Amino acid sequence: MKKYAVPIALFAAFEAVAITLWLTKGNPFYLFNFTYIGASVALGAALFIQGNKNARRVTQLLVGLYMLVYLGLISRENMQIEGFWYYLFTGVFEAATIHYAVAKIFGPLLFGRGWCGYACWTAMVLDFLPYKVPEQPRKQIGWIRYVTFVASLVFVAALFLAHVGNLERIMFWAFIVGNIAYYAVGIALAYAFKDNRAFCKYICPITVFLKPMSYFARIRVTCDHSKCIECGKCRRVCPMDVDMLDDARSRKNGTECILCMECVRNCPKKAL
Ligand code: SF4
Ligand code: SF4
Ligand code: SF4
Repeated sequence: MKKYAVPIALFAAFEAVAITLWLTKGNPFYLFNFTYIGASVALGAALFIQGNKNARRVTQLLVGLYMLVYLGLISRENMQIEGFWYYLFTGVFEAATIHYAVAKIFGPLLFGRGWCGYACWTAMVLDFLPYKVPEQPRKQIGWIRYVTFVASLVFVAALFLAHVGNLERIMFWAFIVGNIAYYAVGIALAYAFKDNRAFCKYICPITVFLKPMSYFARIRVTCDHSKCIECGKCRRVCPMDVDMLDDARSRKNGTECILCMECVRNCPKKAL
């Protein structure tokens, strides 16, 4: 059992959130939601410990499909960034706002960009593409994320200022159209830049929250330099161009790490 301390702790942390929200909000949905996500994350962690190289993808598919299909399409909850603004403006602290607070704003102080590695339904599809490791140097176009971030805010603010009716319906269709656009742009960029995660690096508006918060992440990859033989394999397998051999928080692309553990899994000396 000691071997599985991490998955058990992860499940317990999610269960604590599940029970707290269930009791404080009086809604059993939170118990189901966070128990399911906690079980999916714990399963992935357990598979990783067993050496299964698809461990992360199992969690990513279990959580990503649940959010996209059940929460988004069946329950009609817009979990995209415009849904976050919408529920924030209406003053409703419900699913989308709680989701952002836990996964994308305050959670990254603990688990960095774990959301991007294990749950995001956009990356869930992009990770099936052929360029798992970037084949071209990084582009200097990360500013686009601020444009998409502001555009999502202006879009929702304009709907409120214009007193547009039936906003719930508009948000549902914004979710559908937004996801189709994300997949189309994400796939096109992956092939153009030979990099599955190009969308994450340059376009995704959520990184405006994720990057600064994950700078302070408690859970992060560090190197035991007494074991490292400087073979460089870790850098060659990283999808996000992180310099994981530098332990400083300001390391190159440090706020890009998605905790995929490819560097850890491939290190021949178990130095990471
Ligand atoms: S950067 Fe955006 S698209 Fe990429 S995994 Fe994170 S949330 Fe998903
Ligand atoms: S793969 Fe391991 S041994 Fe090789 S450089 Fe990276 S940390 Fe060092
Ligand atoms: S390979 Fe290592 S440094 Fe790169 S994103 Fe994955 S966990 Fe982070």
